[in-house]
Amino acid sequence: MHHNGTPPRFGFLIDMDGVLYRGPEIIPGADRFVHHLRDRGIPFRFLTNNSQRTRRDVVARLTRMGLDVEEEHVFTSAMATARFLAQQKPGGTAYVIGEGGLLTALHQYEYAVVDHDPDYVVVGEGRTFNLEMVEAAVRMILGGAKLIATNLDPNCPTQNGLRPGCGALVAMLETATGVKAFSVGKPSPVMMRAARKELGLSTDETTMIGDTMETDILGGVQLGFHTVLVLSGGTRSDDLPRYAYRPEIVVESLAELADLMDRNGWRTPWHQVMNGRTVQRSAV
Ligand SMILES: [Mg+2]
Repeated sequence: MHHNGTPPRFGFLIDMDGVLYRGPEIIPGADRFVHHLRDRGIPFRFLTNNSQRTRRDVVARLTRMGLDVEEEHVFTSAMATARFLAQQKPGGTAYVIGEGGLLTALHQYEYAVVDHDPDYVVVGEGRTFNLEMVEAAVRMILGGAKLIATNLDPNCPTQNGLRPGCGALVAMLETATGVKAFSVGKPSPVMMRAARKELGLSTDETTMIGDTMETDILGGVQLGFHTVLVLSGGTRSDDLPRYAYRPEIVVESLAELADLMDRNGWRTPWHQVMNGRTVQRSAV
């Protein structure tokens, strides 16, 4: 049910955790927002730093929550990392500390996963690494393998609080080797720019929506995207004054952004709906 023939010249990169869902629960309004995007043919990608799951796993999870999406809508740091490595060194080898999403993505990009003398040590999240793997990785890095992080998130929210994130594991390898990792996930322009290109849109036509200042909003600001901070995840409006950069707009959740888009029938980007007014309702 597209309302005219030409596709809209604006689109969204949407973080998942804290924007679409919290733990196993969908955040009210996320389904309505995504439904409208699909209904109007507005391009979007879900952007996650979590490299644990494959695209298919992510779609299965979102479908269970009632979101109607396809694999093409999902862009993970695992995919961004595999694509980046394939450009840097086609047909290379990697020692992987990570899980299915990362292994699958590397294989798709013709990478061999090896235990000896790899071109790269690639680190993602997972629950299965042990100190033997860390020790092996340290030896490889000191032997000349390049250290690649899918992301540097220090921790990840769980139903029970927090678990250590990929960044915590990477820090252990950096400390042990004295070698700095190259990170591909948000806010790295490597992932942000690749995702924008997938939308087929220009910088100014792209809006990043997220709940984390250090990744979603920082990445969006650095690339010149429009930025929307949602307060449905890890950031409170009280947190904002301590950052040197700020999102263009702060909303409670995707439900509020959907209300904003309703005003103009989803035909123009939200920042035009605002009519040039700055919506900075919180004390920034
Ligand atoms: Mg998030």
